[in-house]
Amino acid sequence: MRKTTLNGLTYDQLVELCHLAGAKPVHADHLMASIFRRYNPDIDAITELPNVLRNYLAEHTCIFEPDCTASQQAADGTQKLLLKMPDGKEVETVLIQASGRLTQCISSQVGCAVGCTFCLTATAGLTRNLTAAEMAAEVFAGQRISGRKVRNLVLMGMGEPLHNYNEVAHFVRIVTDPKGMAFSPNRVTLSTSGLVPAMYRMIEDELPCNLAVSLNATTDEVRNRIMPINRKYPIAMLMQTVRDYIAARGNKRVLIEYVMLAGINDSPDDATRLCELLDGLDCTVNLLPFNPFDGTEFERPGDDIVSAFRAVLVKADKVVVVRESRGREISAACGQLKTETVATRHHRSA
Ligand code: SF4
Repeated sequence: MRKTTLNGLTYDQLVELCHLAGAKPVHADHLMASIFRRYNPDIDAITELPNVLRNYLAEHTCIFEPDCTASQQAADGTQKLLLKMPDGKEVETVLIQASGRLTQCISSQVGCAVGCTFCLTATAGLTRNLTAAEMAAEVFAGQRISGRKVRNLVLMGMGEPLHNYNEVAHFVRIVTDPKGMAFSPNRVTLSTSGLVPAMYRMIEDELPCNLAVSLNATTDEVRNRIMPINRKYPIAMLMQTVRDYIAARGNKRVLIEYVMLAGINDSPDDATRLCELLDGLDCTVNLLPFNPFDGTEFERPGDDIVSAFRAVLVKADKVVVVRESRGREISAACGQLKTETVATRHHRSA
């Protein structure tokens, strides 16, 4: 019999579970507090639970915590972890220290099907979606291993979150549940490569999180080349969707991510076109100088190019932040720790 994973349940589902076990709904609060607020997987330690519920939980449920199979720590405190899921598949999660706060980057899929040509994760294709319970377990592991409270969650790890909409939406509701982990919706950010229909679904569902859009180009010609998804949802359609999102969600400020690739999308003309695309849009631009990995055709632009690009945006009154890939000396590109760890294992067993 397949057991229900407790860390994949919302408060309402825990109430339902108490009902099925013949216990009072109030015990859902005890479960919620222990599992999601204190990150304590030991049900026996919850003294308030009646035996009838305890026995039911032992027979029908489990709590999943992934093993950490590899980790790297950078001088700036950034920690990258490789986590093993119940079927043995591995995903990365990254803990980033910034301004005394801990941000965790969450993976939503094992691999990714989108095929961005500057992304290492894309090279292996998609293996499978993660469940909401597995994503919640990434947060549990982040808390446990860092020994600190994670303040912000960003769905910017391996995978395209909106290709796994149902599980990701469920995960967002779990982590923002005020009775559970209680992350403020303003501290949870979902980053997409631009799946337009699913972005409209986010609007309809009023998904309690921020939106980030990985734009990375200012012409369809370039975006088609580096992000094949653009052939289906070109820049004009994507930007209209962002405008519709902001209009529908009221005061929601959108994050525009722009990975800068030397000689590809980093010219002054690109910067000017980017200003035009963002004209009147309530957004923050994150400029991310590319972090090269072995075998990539792309290069990181020089600091002078990045500064000049930024200056054009600032002159046009855009809110712009240059984000260095944290922990550049560790395998900081998305998918890099996994690729290196798998390669080392193959090497050892060869
Ligand atoms: S950048 Fe994101 S969406 Fe694109 S292939 Fe990589 S993981 Fe997928």
